Amino acid sequence: MSKIAIALSLTVCALSAQTNASRVSGPPRFDLTAIDKSVDPCVDFYRYACGSWIKSNPIPPDQAMWGRFNELADRNRDILHEILEQSAKGGAGRDTTTQKIGDYYAACMDEKAIDAKALAPLEPELARIRNLNDKAQLAGEIAHLHSAGVWALFTFSSGQDFKDSNAVIAQFDQGGLGLPDRDYYLKDDPKSVELRQKYVAHVARMMELAGEKPDRAKAGADTVMKFETALAKGSLDLVSRRDPEKVYHKMGKPELAALSRAFRWNEYFAATRAPSFDAINVSYPEFVKTMDSAVEGTSLADWKTYLTWQLLHGSALMLPTPFVQENFDFFGKTLNGTETMRPRWKRCVDYTDGDLGEALGKKYVEKTFGAEGKTRTLKMVDALEKALGEDIDKLDWMTPATKQQAMVKLKAITNKIGYPDRWRDYSSLAIKPDDALGNSLRANEFEFHRQLNKIGQPVDRLEWSMTPPTVNAYYDPQMNNINFPAGILQPPFFYNNVDDAVNFGGIGMVIGHELTHGFDDQGSQFDAHGNLKNWWTPKDSEEFHQREACIADEYGGFSVAPGVFVNGKLTLGENTADNGGARVALMALLNTIGSSTSKIDGYTPEQRFFLSFGQIWCENARPEALRNLVLTDPHTPPEFRVKGVVENMPEFQKAFSCKPGQPMAPVHACHVW
Ligand SMILES: [Zn+2]
Repeated sequence: MSKIAIALSLTVCALSAQTNASRVSGPPRFDLTAIDKSVDPCVDFYRYACGSWIKSNPIPPDQAMWGRFNELADRNRDILHEILEQSAKGGAGRDTTTQKIGDYYAACMDEKAIDAKALAPLEPELARIRNLNDKAQLAGEIAHLHSAGVWALFTFSSGQDFKDSNAVIAQFDQGGLGLPDRDYYLKDDPKSVELRQKYVAHVARMMELAGEKPDRAKAGADTVMKFETALAKGSLDLVSRRDPEKVYHKMGKPELAALSRAFRWNEYFAATRAPSFDAINVSYPEFVKTMDSAVEGTSLADWKTYLTWQLLHGSALMLPTPFVQENFDFFGKTLNGTETMRPRWKRCVDYTDGDLGEALGKKYVEKTFGAEGKTRTLKMVDALEKALGEDIDKLDWMTPATKQQAMVKLKAITNKIGYPDRWRDYSSLAIKPDDALGNSLRANEFEFHRQLNKIGQPVDRLEWSMTPPTVNAYYDPQMNNINFPAGILQPPFFYNNVDDAVNFGGIGMVIGHELTHGFDDQGSQFDAHGNLKNWWTPKDSEEFHQREACIADEYGGFSVAPGVFVNGKLTLGENTADNGGARVALMALLNTIGSSTSKIDGYTPEQRFFLSFGQIWCENARPEALRNLVLTDPHTPPEFRVKGVVENMPEFQKAFSCKPGQPMAPVHACHVW
């Protein structure tokens, strides 16, 4: 979607999401045993903070990477698992929330029933595509697929107007690819070429599983590759998509129609049952022209092949075992290096969270999150906001005029902690105990209409875009708010009973990170009201961009494999947020504890702060997953999230007595916020 979501850490994709139950025991303590004292912290602080953890926590075979986020997600998932097993027992007297989550989970877990039905539940959808007899019917069918969560050709939803954050308008975005990003279709290094060959083989096998003869499946896969490559060529790259001005083209329906005469827009919009609207943001008009050629120049037979593939791909997770296995073999194993599939219950817990997140989340919160957690978090948010205010005030590169605007924006940031004040109403969504695929398709339909029905309505400022058990947090530039799900307000981010230094290095840094997103390469372009509007003097803007360029260069020098570098521009916003977040979290800590230097476990408060910060990022990752990550994820791999920050902090160098010129104390440091 063109909505800019700025999260602390992305799960790479649903297929490589995270867990290993065998590791679950109580919440880990602030972890002195993670440290590797044989390493000099001034030479490699990441190895110093995490070295022993890294050695004693190999990646489980069913994971692409394994870190502290995963440990916590595992503990949360165990709680969800218990809730769902209980809810699935059925019987009279279940409330409707329990019925929905219990039946969804039970249907998902019933692999035998799913396998026994084979492709029968998908057959009506396959038949619709088979029975198309004219390209004039394409728009209606694509609308139908979109409502089922199958994003063929493009995506359509709603979102706040970038330049009028009180208005919700229609949103059109590029899409229609099976691989994670357009670059996978366009790069011609040997790895990319090999990956494409394997993708084509995967598409062919999925078609064979759906009953196609091998030679026709092979030809069909080539058709899909050709079609998706054309869409990829017409798509905007990820770095450009970070610039809000480049993805904002508000227009009326006639202007959209002029970009593609071949696509029957009126039929499409009518079939989506979207409320009537005048304004639509077309993220990248060039893509619509590409789409036009695709509609014009592709035969009906080839369209059927492409749509069938997209349908199989989009529903694979709820299909019989051979489809699930084939889907994992490509997206889990080939793309991310994961060796084995996760146990079914973990996947079904995640799918329930994905489709009924605020029903399951309500039960999770009742079990886990008390008023105390909210109060303590709010106190830390206050401390962090105050510290960021002081930081802005002290900046030597910004003039008073811009500082004043920055303070207006900072003061306007609102926060949401734990869970929604008003829970989503799923009463119109039918969930059956024996219809896994149907439940998933209906949940997608529910979500599709929920999004479209916002068009023309007042903005819902109570809404969350993450579910309560999620181990993550986000800043929303159009809402100008920061959001912390209950799932992350736990160890190793937040402890009820450790010294402040550890909590400020953990959740304090997370809060600082989200606040700083309001002032990164994207956030800085939105004002206090969430509108895309310049509030900078030209001189200050230039100074800002110079300092951002320093961060982009620094991170662009980090290498994850020979010849494979972090993309400094793609990760610029996250790295800015990490650097600003750590700096203001440390300021907030020092404001809180005063000049206390008393040691605990042999470490000063500052040292414990940096160790806590470093240790939330302890992780092992497979080379395939890292390669995938640097291509698609705006977050830098964990090792460099830690090094990249401490290298820029004189406070770190002082805390560990590093000498200028040592690897963690380079002569040229970057400083934005
Ligand atoms: Zn972030």
